[in-house]
Amino acid sequence: MKAITLLGSTGSIGTQTLDIVQSHPDQFRLVGLAAGRNVKLLAQQVRQFRPDIVAICQADYLPELKAAIADLEPQPILLAGDEGVVEVARYGDAEAVVTGIVGCAGLLPTLAAIEAGKDIALANKETLIAGGPVVLPLIKKHGVRLLPADSEHSAIFQCLQGVPEGSLRRIVLTASGGAFRDWPTEKLADVKVADALKHPNWSMGRKITVDSATLMNKGLEVIEAHYLFGVDYNRIDIVIHPQSIIHSLIELQDTSMLAQLGWPDMRLPLLYALSWPERICTDWEPLDLVKAGDLTFRAPDRQKYPCMDLAYAAGRAGGSMPAVLNAANEQAVALFLDEKIRFLDIPHLIEQVCDRHHANNHSDPALADILEADRWARSEAQSCSQSLAQTASIR
Ligand code: MG
Repeated sequence: MKAITLLGSTGSIGTQTLDIVQSHPDQFRLVGLAAGRNVKLLAQQVRQFRPDIVAICQADYLPELKAAIADLEPQPILLAGDEGVVEVARYGDAEAVVTGIVGCAGLLPTLAAIEAGKDIALANKETLIAGGPVVLPLIKKHGVRLLPADSEHSAIFQCLQGVPEGSLRRIVLTASGGAFRDWPTEKLADVKVADALKHPNWSMGRKITVDSATLMNKGLEVIEAHYLFGVDYNRIDIVIHPQSIIHSLIELQDTSMLAQLGWPDMRLPLLYALSWPERICTDWEPLDLVKAGDLTFRAPDRQKYPCMDLAYAAGRAGGSMPAVLNAANEQAVALFLDEKIRFLDIPHLIEQVCDRHHANNHSDPALADILEADRWARSEAQSCSQSLAQTASIR
């Protein structure tokens, strides 16, 4: 029986993790839950899974949460705010913490969990991308494990089991191609928010679905792979694989390639992050190769999707630049979802913010430098978007 804590319990990663816990009550026990502001769902989860400690990030909702579970006996410890989430992350005897919080907001709770000696099931790539230079030494210091729950990185991690050190030559990340895979480049100027939220294969949250449409998600995953597996950027490649059946591949020194396959379903990488190194029996539909049909591949269009190369450049620059890239992207996606900027403004905005950071890039940033870079990049992206809006209205 493994004790786990779940951060971001009401989101897409969170609900799928609870689905796993519910189907394997003999394997997993829930110690803590934290969510943003979806009180109704959080209260229902508390009722069903009876955790010891619960936090709601938006403190105004605490009274509503209290009222919704007032009849429960015994009562869980109830907390609110960012500090509450951090407290849940480090609490009690949980062995692993699943980080399903969206964006850089996951960084501080993740650091708290590592310092409390807990393994991290990493479903929040932004934590590692922004905080890599701080997270990795801390993981080493506390002797905990960073277990990837992103489908691509889980695939690579699965392929690497039993591969001797020094044998890995190259990583190939597969990409579905996102919502605009089959759209001509000219049409991208008129993209609506609803169009960007239609992912062809995966059902995910809004932010990551837009990231898939710009292919920034894949760019961020390149940086994530670099930090997780210690592979140089020129040995990480991207290939478009529209069917999302092969979740990624590794190439070994002797040119042998290994791949991990499955239906596009986030529960499998989540389960493996929790069960590693064991394999737990499930009743999920196994992959049927005949039903899956043709598996096809093509090179990514770097002109159509500039975000990929922006991410490679930020990754190579290192230091605080990946944090700036990530924050500028989070801000740009939020502005796009708010209909304040157009789809094609997203890469422009990110590029401008990264360019302005070059002279100030911290090569070996401390946590304070990363948080400052994150804050700066968000406000810079905001002001760049206002000048974009002005230019557009003059036109
Ligand atoms: Mg992924």
